[in-house]
Amino acid sequence: MIVNTCGFIDAAKEESIAAILDAVTAAHARGARVAAVGCLVERYRGELAAELPEVDLWAGLDWGPLVGALAAEARTTPAAGDRSGVEARATKSAARARTGADAAGSSAARRVRPVHAYVKLSDGCDRRCAYCAIPLIKGVYAAVPPTEILREAEAALGCGARELVLVGQDTSRWEWPGWGGLARLLAELEALGPVWIRLLYLQPDGVDEALLETLAAHAVPYVDLPLQHAARGVLQRMGRAGDGEAYLRLLAAIRRALPGAAVRSTFMVGFPGETEADVDELVDFIVEARPAVAGVFTFDPQEGTPAASMAGQVPAAVAEDRAARVTAAIDDAAAGYWDGLIGRELDVLVEQGTRRPDGEAVGRLAVQAPDVDGRTLLTGRRLRRGRLVRARVVARLGYDVAATTAD
Ligand code: SF4
Repeated sequence: MIVNTCGFIDAAKEESIAAILDAVTAAHARGARVAAVGCLVERYRGELAAELPEVDLWAGLDWGPLVGALAAEARTTPAAGDRSGVEARATKSAARARTGADAAGSSAARRVRPVHAYVKLSDGCDRRCAYCAIPLIKGVYAAVPPTEILREAEAALGCGARELVLVGQDTSRWEWPGWGGLARLLAELEALGPVWIRLLYLQPDGVDEALLETLAAHAVPYVDLPLQHAARGVLQRMGRAGDGEAYLRLLAAIRRALPGAAVRSTFMVGFPGETEADVDELVDFIVEARPAVAGVFTFDPQEGTPAASMAGQVPAAVAEDRAARVTAAIDDAAAGYWDGLIGRELDVLVEQGTRRPDGEAVGRLAVQAPDVDGRTLLTGRRLRRGRLVRARVVARLGYDVAATTAD
């Protein structure tokens, strides 16, 4: 079992450790072994290895030891085929784990392979947001070469994925010297035949007209724009560009280029020095910005980051109250977006199908990202996993919608 860990914030660290412990129990009960990999391991390998000796293999961001172990494992249980086939299977297993397709994640239960695949465009980040530990873990920005991105995408589609979700800490800046940028990359990915391409984590100052044209031509109408705040002073202390007014202008440009687009965002409250007036400004901004969905985090000081030792730390209880207020504003604003879809006929990608002729299934609209957004509860005919069906949205259920196939 491979547990891919996260070391970004305390909640993620705790969840990763809980997942490792679950995996150890489940794997060892059936004679299997556990590898813990990823960011948390990269950052705290020494402490983790001392505390959790029952884990069989530790690998941070270097996947070499994991690939080696998988290859050795495959050699001891060879299926039909030669040794190079065994190596290829081991490498493919590691690649699937890296893109999240097979990772144990937070559950040790057997899961159906998803119809989407994450494909990494880059790793690391040259920005230095004052609260963020990612550059400390991942290092400076490094683009993945286009040949590798295209190869990963092709492999994922070959394994049954229908949607490519492109990720990285700073996706909008992807380009490869002498090859081109996102316009060419998305066109080439589209030619591989996915039904949808989705680009996540667009930093607001990286979104320009050219990028919006590229999204309009090749991607779903979905813009994932981590804004974090609207009060200029808070954003400046965070080390981030812009303010509420600039962000509203950007959102207007996004909606001109991508009519009906869902805008997803994340906001952070309780950053050192944040005042009640700053939170009022953020709530007013959310009312005008009308995100379709947004996450709210309370500031979580991470060792080694400048914000951890800034003056004006906000008590946890105050930050929680602010988060509740901002969440309520988001829920109100978002309801308008989803209510606006009721009565419309839209494409739905079936994620969990049914073989019954008139059954119930679960899918997603193009404006719902996998894993983080709501889902579409489908009723109707021919709802096989991986199919793209036309369905009429009939109701909103919180952040989910209900839809019925049109034919
Ligand atoms: S842009 Fe994202 S990954 Fe980079 S430092 Fe800021 S929050 Fe961290």
